[in-house]
Amino acid sequence: MEKKTELRERLLANMDSLAKEEVETSHFIHSNPEPGCEEFKAAARLTDDLAKHGFIIEKPVGGMETAFKAHVSGKTPGPRIAFLAEYDSLGLLGHACGHNFIGTVSTFAGIALQPLMGELNGAVMVIGTPAEETWGGKIILLENGVFKDVDTAMMIHPSNETRMQAHSLAAQVVEFTFHGKPAHAAAMPWQGINALDALIQMFISVDQMRKQQRPTVRTPGVIKYGGERANVVPERAVGQFSCRGEDYEELLEVIRRVNNCADGAALATGTKVESKFVGPLYKDMIPNQTLVKLYEKNFLSIGGVIEENPHKGQGSLDMGNLSHEFPCIHPYIRIAPDDVSIHTAEFRDCAACPMADERLLLGAKTLALTALDILLEPALLEEMRKELKKK
Ligand SMILES: [Zn+2]
Repeated sequence: MEKKTELRERLLANMDSLAKEEVETSHFIHSNPEPGCEEFKAAARLTDDLAKHGFIIEKPVGGMETAFKAHVSGKTPGPRIAFLAEYDSLGLLGHACGHNFIGTVSTFAGIALQPLMGELNGAVMVIGTPAEETWGGKIILLENGVFKDVDTAMMIHPSNETRMQAHSLAAQVVEFTFHGKPAHAAAMPWQGINALDALIQMFISVDQMRKQQRPTVRTPGVIKYGGERANVVPERAVGQFSCRGEDYEELLEVIRRVNNCADGAALATGTKVESKFVGPLYKDMIPNQTLVKLYEKNFLSIGGVIEENPHKGQGSLDMGNLSHEFPCIHPYIRIAPDDVSIHTAEFRDCAACPMADERLLLGAKTLALTALDILLEPALLEEMRKELKKK
C-alpha cells in the first residue's frame, strides 16, 4: 500500500476510536461556558487532553492568561501547521457561537496526528486563542509573537451552513465623545451647549451616508451615554460606531467619513469632539485558495457535503489579521438548520446536539487529513505562500 494511503487509514481509524472522548470534551466546555479571558476550565481541559497525548504545552502565552500553545515535532524540520482553538462563550447566552466545537475540533485534529509524527517531518501545533468575541485574542497573540513559528493555520467554525471558505469584513469600533456645557434646561437653556444634540446630529449624518455606500460598508452605532437628567442640558455624550468595510483600505475610508460626520455635528452645535479606537482593528479574511482546495478535496473524500446558505451575510474575524501574515482557512460546517442564526439560544443548544457531535468527527478528520497532505508534500506550502505574496 502506498505510504500516504496507509497513513490516512491509520489516522482515520484512530480518530474513530477517539471520537467518544472528544465529544465529552466538547460537551464539558459547552456546559461550563466562560467569557473571553476567563476560559480557565476550557483551557485546562484542552491542555490536559493534549498533554495526555504527548504534546508539549506552553501556558500561558502571548500575555493572555488563558492562551496556550501545544506542539509535537516530527523527525526533522518541515511545515509547521497550527490548528486554532477558540473556547470563549457569549456571556449569558453561553456557547451561542459554538466555540466549544472549535476548541475541540482543533484539539482532536492535533491529537490524531501525534502518533504519526515519528514518521513525518515538520510540526503540529494546537494554539489556544481566547476572547475571540470580545478582544480579538488572535490579534493580541499575533502582536506578541505567538505565531512567529507558524507556517499555516486552520480552524473550523460551526454554523447554519457548510461552506469551504468565507470572506470577512475589516472592522474597527470607534468611540466619539462630544463635550458641551451644562445649564438648566428650562430656566436658562441658552447658556448651555447640548452634547447630546451633537451626537444625534452625527447619527443622522452617518445614516444619510449609507445611501451612497457600497453594500460591504457597515456603520451601526449605539449611544453609550447621553446625559443624566432631562432638566439639565447634556454636557457630555458618548457614542460608538462599528465601522466595517470590504478590506483594510475601504475600512480606513469609512472611518474617515464617519469622523467627518462627527466634526460636522460638532461645528453645527458648537461642541468639541474627540474620538478613539475601541478594541483592535480586524483585517478582512483572505482565505488561501490553495489551502481551501486541499481542505475541500479532503472534506468530500470522507463523505462531507457542501451546503451553502444563500442568505448569510458577513461578519468580522480576528483570524483575518493572521490571514494577511501566513496562509489560513476558516471554513464553516453545519450544525444547525438554515434559519437558526449564530449568537442565539437556539444555536447554543445546537452546539452540543447529535449533529454537532457527528460533525466534530467529520471536521477534525478533514483538518487532520489536510495537515497530513502538507506534511507529506511541503511544496504545497510554497504554493500557498506564493499565492499570499501575490495578494
Ligand atoms: Zn464565533
